[in-house]
Amino acid sequence: MTTTLVPYDEALTRYEPVLGIETHIELGTKSKMFCGCSTEFGAPPNTQVCPVCLGLPGSLPVTNQAAIEGIIKIGLALNCSIVEWCRFARKNYFYPDMPKNFQISQYDEPLCVDGHLDVEVDGETYRIEIERVHMEEDTGKSLHVGGATGRIQGADHSLVDYNRAGIPLVEIVTKPIVATGDKAPLVARAYATELRELVRALGVSDVRMEQGSMRCDVNVSLMPAGSSVWGTRSETKNVNSLRSVERSVRHEIERQAGVLDAGERVIQETRHFHEDTGTTTSGRSKEEAQDYRYFPEPDLVPMAPPREWVDELLTDRPELPAARRARVRAEWSLSDKELQDIVNAGALDLIEETVRAGAEASAARKWWMNELSRRATEQGVELTELPVTPADVVRVSALVAEGALNDKLARQVFDGVLAGEGTPDEVVEKRGLKIVSDEGELSTVIDEVIAGNPDIAEKIRGGKVAAAGALVGAVMKATRGQADAGRARELIIQKLTG
Ligand code: ZN
Ligand code: MN
Repeated sequence: MTTTLVPYDEALTRYEPVLGIETHIELGTKSKMFCGCSTEFGAPPNTQVCPVCLGLPGSLPVTNQAAIEGIIKIGLALNCSIVEWCRFARKNYFYPDMPKNFQISQYDEPLCVDGHLDVEVDGETYRIEIERVHMEEDTGKSLHVGGATGRIQGADHSLVDYNRAGIPLVEIVTKPIVATGDKAPLVARAYATELRELVRALGVSDVRMEQGSMRCDVNVSLMPAGSSVWGTRSETKNVNSLRSVERSVRHEIERQAGVLDAGERVIQETRHFHEDTGTTTSGRSKEEAQDYRYFPEPDLVPMAPPREWVDELLTDRPELPAARRARVRAEWSLSDKELQDIVNAGALDLIEETVRAGAEASAARKWWMNELSRRATEQGVELTELPVTPADVVRVSALVAEGALNDKLARQVFDGVLAGEGTPDEVVEKRGLKIVSDEGELSTVIDEVIAGNPDIAEKIRGGKVAAAGALVGAVMKATRGQADAGRARELIIQKLTG
């Protein structure tokens, strides 16, 4: 069935989107959820397995305390209540990458409930209500060999790697997200971004979407504008980048509007998002909870985290992203827009580290946000991937502050550092990038410039000091940028008015 997409803006005139986001986050514990196997990423297939995570008969699971600590930290950071008593449940379904034929998860007794996370889009705050945060285990990974797409269709055989089976997985489920209007895709993205930052700040997961340690299932439904009856939702599974979260919501709005406009029903199903086309395709029709035949996990004792422990985890937690942004914004005197730009550029850690290592905030911000961000964009890499360290930026800023470099020369120093020519000092030395600070030499150049621009010189003599800029420019040109512009300006004014 092909559906005619409705242009986004038009779809929003007739329909109101309702979102729901389920996020799976792999915790960075050393061992798995219910056994002692290593969780390290990238090991040869099936080398990190044992009878427990392979579900062999007679093996018994034991709960990993570090994982429970991790999920409670996440629950608290999401303003959830941590229940005093709860149980694991078996979620029964067959899938080749799940050796036990059931997943140990939580059903009607999740560990963390009723929280919220505030996110900001275009200066407006949206409160995302959190329904639940529960503990479960990851599945293995299927590898389909022989097809063109890596999907099962067209493959001639499949392999299964159980290294991932049993890695602690936290699932975070939002309540329905309503009243976001045309901002829905951006709100979804902002939520995933904020959640990722939050979990990263807690230090409980590396939250790498590209490696699958954070994956979002994005539910979208449409209801006619003005209605209060929710439509049928689709669930786009395992969306693995922030950009894709945004794009998948946008596409589903356009697609479902087309289905509804044609008088057809939206089918409740899972869908796959395709990065290349920005579209989703149908997966399988979605199971209802009763299909899983949940029942309390008989091999595990209930969880009853002591209150003192929970209180301790709350007291000892690190600064959370929202508090950090508020502090940085005040300390560095930033506008909301400036702060947002820094966050969006992924430069907050780098700038803060640079400031901590001794640079002025304004200088640290200037270099990371202008010069270095531009280089990163040109090279198509993240700012953190540039071969420049906060220490390098501190050193260049210091050289500028003491007048040994001007901005133009500093940029050349970064050229050298980026080209692997060494530290800023080594680049200055090798490339001979020193400001012409020899007063005699500078004075001679200034005399020549004054002689060559009698009209401007006359204006300055007449009191128009602002005109000195043009002469400074000429001095910089004559010295190929290696003069100290501030000193040149002083000397020009001195010579003409002193
Ligand atoms: Zn194991
Ligand atoms: Mn799950």
